[in-house]
Amino acid sequence: MSDIEKLVIIGSGPAGWTAAIYAARANLDPLVLEGVAKQEGGYVLPGGQLMLTTEVENYPGYPEGVDGPKMMADFKKQAERFDTRVESRDVVKCDFSQRPFVLETKDSGGKEGTVTAHSVVIATGATANWLNLENELRLALSGGGVSACAVCDGALPAFRDQELVVVGGGDTAMEEASYLTKFASMVHVVHRRDEFRASKLMQKRILENPKANVIWDTTVTDVLGDDTITGVRLKNVKTGEERDFPCKGLFLAIGHQPATPFLESCGIELDEKRYLKLTNPPGMETSIEGVFAAGDVADAVYRQAVTAAGMGCQAALDAERWLGAQGIH
Ligand SMILES: Cc1cc2nc3c(=O)[nH]c(=O)nc-3n(C[C@H](O)[C@H](O)[C@H](O)COP(=O)(O)OP(=O)(O)OC[C@H]3O[C@@H](n4cnc5c(N)ncnc54)[C@H](O)[C@@H]3O)c2cc1C
Repeated sequence: MSDIEKLVIIGSGPAGWTAAIYAARANLDPLVLEGVAKQEGGYVLPGGQLMLTTEVENYPGYPEGVDGPKMMADFKKQAERFDTRVESRDVVKCDFSQRPFVLETKDSGGKEGTVTAHSVVIATGATANWLNLENELRLALSGGGVSACAVCDGALPAFRDQELVVVGGGDTAMEEASYLTKFASMVHVVHRRDEFRASKLMQKRILENPKANVIWDTTVTDVLGDDTITGVRLKNVKTGEERDFPCKGLFLAIGHQPATPFLESCGIELDEKRYLKLTNPPGMETSIEGVFAAGDVADAVYRQAVTAAGMGCQAALDAERWLGAQGIH
């Protein structure tokens, strides 16, 4: 076998594994670089963002719902069934100025390596920002009522007819809070300033909603509860006063970071929010011929497992056609 990979897939979330399943079945013998666990504002993990949730209820094919890590283990198993190769390394730098492309990697022990590839699918996702409070991730991982995705988790029984807290002040926070008012008895939006950053139209959806209440000039300094959340500790940033505020759910809506810093110096086009730019939609081509994008790393709008998986399929099909056109089969 040549040392040059036909296709390397960077990332092991729904987009990466779906790309791998399609590429492996098309005899492209893909190599998945699944990444290593780290904390960079948000939490980055092999298996992706679904490793941070216990209940996925909206992915077709799981009528009873499924645990996020179990679902990602199923995705991986399916990719490996078709002989996808998997290595636990991060890509730290890419050289797309020459072909084959050169990817510099580092494993969890810091060991450096190099991979050369005729084509690449970048499926590194976007990490949700968290407050990085001690109890927050523990309760998120245990299904204890903390989440970074209202559309994903808002309809769960635990949140119905309950008082919920949303943290944030941008368009996403307005959208997520407004979505949660469909289920909650009351949604309290906690914002650290005395006005929202969101557009006027989006603000209206909260400010005029009888099931929404805004708590201005306030931050969440602690998440309370052992097995499930019982409340949050709030701090008024102007007076310094702290109080415990009972609630049955906490939703973080303080932005996402696309996992693209490792691409900064390689000349690939990113948009103003640093997401990968698709240059030929609905295709998954990027500004570098032979390099394709899939999933949340190129999608600041939908950010769902099923849309990421769909893009993974598209990217693998696009890569296969492109490789075929280069005479690489
Ligand atoms: C708490 C929470 C709950 C959610 N619940 C749901 C839900 O119920 N239903 C739903 O549809 N969606 C849900 N989502 C959204 C869903 O998780 C994402 O839309 C989906 O995971 C995106 O898939 P992806 O493959 O694009 O990226 P990700 O899942 O983010 O995967 C990215 C992958 O890239 C790897 N990676 C990153 N950088 C590098 C690098 N430099 N080198 C190598 N690898 C790298 C990471 O390790 C990871 O494996 C939830 C999100 C969160 C945060």
